[in-house]
Amino acid sequence: MRLVTVSTEHGPRACVEWQGEYVDIHAADPGLPSRMRDVLALGTEGLERVRAATASGSVRYEAAGAKLLAPVPDPVKIVCLGLNYRDHAEESGMAIPTEPILFSKYATSVIGPGATIELPKVSTEVDYEAELVYVIGKRGRDIPRESAMEYIVGYTIGHDVSARDWQLNKPGKQWMAGKTFDTFAPIGPAIVTLDELPDPHSLGIRLRLNGETMQDSSTNQLIFKADETIAYLSQIFTLEPGDLIFTGTPPGVGMARKPPVWLKAGDFVEVEIDGLGVLSNPVAARL
Ligand code: MN
Repeated sequence: MRLVTVSTEHGPRACVEWQGEYVDIHAADPGLPSRMRDVLALGTEGLERVRAATASGSVRYEAAGAKLLAPVPDPVKIVCLGLNYRDHAEESGMAIPTEPILFSKYATSVIGPGATIELPKVSTEVDYEAELVYVIGKRGRDIPRESAMEYIVGYTIGHDVSARDWQLNKPGKQWMAGKTFDTFAPIGPAIVTLDELPDPHSLGIRLRLNGETMQDSSTNQLIFKADETIAYLSQIFTLEPGDLIFTGTPPGVGMARKPPVWLKAGDFVEVEIDGLGVLSNPVAARL
């Protein structure tokens, strides 16, 4: 299934993409929730019920005219891995990590497909990063690697927008500030459930800036794979339905280019991952 959140006159509604339309899950079966985080928490049987309700759902939004929000508009946690592609670590002049490098973004940085990435007034070095995102569907702590994939409900596309001047030049080598400015976490357009995309480690991943390909790689380059990542993170905190895990970016980012390429007002960025679609966002100065 492809799950999306549509902006409606009744607020955000979790929907299933179905034959050119978005079918409202709660309207199709009032026993099912309307918020995506709650839909993701339903588990395998619940998602089967969602699937069964889709065909007969009477509240549908024409895909062409609907406004999509981030598929999870209100995640409790956004956890990000840094330097998780071997060749991106090399282009950054950093050592290949032996344990995951972690930072976070806040829910205030989340925007959906088509929404505008705002360039902060206080940064002059805003960069792009194409990323695969794991979407958590099951609550868990101290998850063994062998069962880790049961905790991922699906995948979506993420754009880890990064203010390099705030990420790399502030005291204490902290990354978080440069990564979580408002609008710096575009995600979407849809969550593709695991049954449609069982292997996250063989997907082409690309980023186009104003139509020009800047990143072009495969998730087979990931250093820490999905099961290892889930097991590692769940030693630290409880993972919960709707949590998002950004998995790192391949080579070709703007800061590694000579001269460097920074996002500017009027730019248009597309992140594409095989089987997931395209996440497109315009760029503008913050007013
Ligand atoms: Mn990143």
